[in-house]
Amino acid sequence: MAGVVLKDVCKVYDGGGTTLAVNHVNLTIKDREFMVLVGPSGCGKSTTLRMIAGLEEISSGTISIGDRVVNNVPPKDRDIAMVFQNYALYPHKTVYENMAFGLRLRKFPKADIDKRVRAAAEILGIESYLDRKPKALSGGQRQRVAVGRAIVRKPEVFLFDEPLSNLDAKMRVQMRTEISKLHTRLETTMIYVTHDQIEAMTMGDRICVMKDGLIQQVDTPLNIYDHPANTFVAGFIGTPPMNIFRGTIAKEGEKLFFRNANMSLELPETWTAAAEKFIEKDILFGIRPEDIGSERAELAEKVQHIRAKIEVMEPMGAETYLYLDAPTDNGVSCIARVDAHKQAKVGEVLSLPILVANAHLFDPASTNILV
Ligand code: ADP
Repeated sequence: MAGVVLKDVCKVYDGGGTTLAVNHVNLTIKDREFMVLVGPSGCGKSTTLRMIAGLEEISSGTISIGDRVVNNVPPKDRDIAMVFQNYALYPHKTVYENMAFGLRLRKFPKADIDKRVRAAAEILGIESYLDRKPKALSGGQRQRVAVGRAIVRKPEVFLFDEPLSNLDAKMRVQMRTEISKLHTRLETTMIYVTHDQIEAMTMGDRICVMKDGLIQQVDTPLNIYDHPANTFVAGFIGTPPMNIFRGTIAKEGEKLFFRNANMSLELPETWTAAAEKFIEKDILFGIRPEDIGSERAELAEKVQHIRAKIEVMEPMGAETYLYLDAPTDNGVSCIARVDAHKQAKVGEVLSLPILVANAHLFDPASTNILV
């Protein structure tokens, strides 16, 4: 069993000038933890994973697996197994041989190989395909074989690089739960790279959100959702994203308000210390779509409302998204998630309850959360 520790890890690619593809990353992945590295394309998540695997050289800093610094340890001696997006199966070998190959190279006894391959095939439900070649398998089955090849090694750490990106939407959801079950069953450290925030939310014990080579926030999925460190994380984690409005803080008597052309909202007393520095100044106000127009907003103590016109309605089945003519800071419409059976029409002006206690303020200069 092993945790993984990255200390001040940087990566500059040859020919990349001085650009840090990975910028002073400090991250501790605990033994048996499922850590997801997530962020938009180019944020440095694959480079980070490949440095842990030993497939990419580290420009500076140290990486430890267990209690061993592995900077100069070749990939095959790191006790890791990696599952790639493109499966990387040998097309001319059977499923069995694909899974057995790495063990044969390492000169494992034949009986041990057989035991491990059959055990992995059983875990993954691919026992009946062992004699097939990869071309006779569906995408989901191929990905299972790729996972099986990693399992037979019994590594200290599993590394997954966007393993579900080539699958269709339904298969992705199924494989997502299978990998989560596998983690529960194997009790091994897993590090999983994805650009998909839903995979990150649903699979990770903790999530590490990255942007431009820098870690933005590391925490449990719900802590990140409820307390995003900055407006980037607030917009990246959660669909639809958090609505972020620009406005100013106004003071009337002892009360503070967030105001812009579309709304005037009294702020909770507990926010005063953070908000009063911004009186008469620009500020960003963030609120999740489910805190506008929803039942829990309606039932809140001291319920407040915003008035807005419905521009578009998107029925999702279990709920409906209302696009409102209250522009957010990035110019897109405000979105409210309301009951699927709410009586409303496009063009109608509604008074919608808004759960201010669940909202946040962000500093417009740094974009960091204030409260
Ligand atoms: P992600 O996995 O988040 O999409 P990557 O880790 O692949 O991001 O890339 C991070 C940055 O490093 C990007 O700006 C990318 O263009 C750059 N990069 C990745 N691989 C190389 C390479 N082999 N040579 C030069 N630059 C690279």
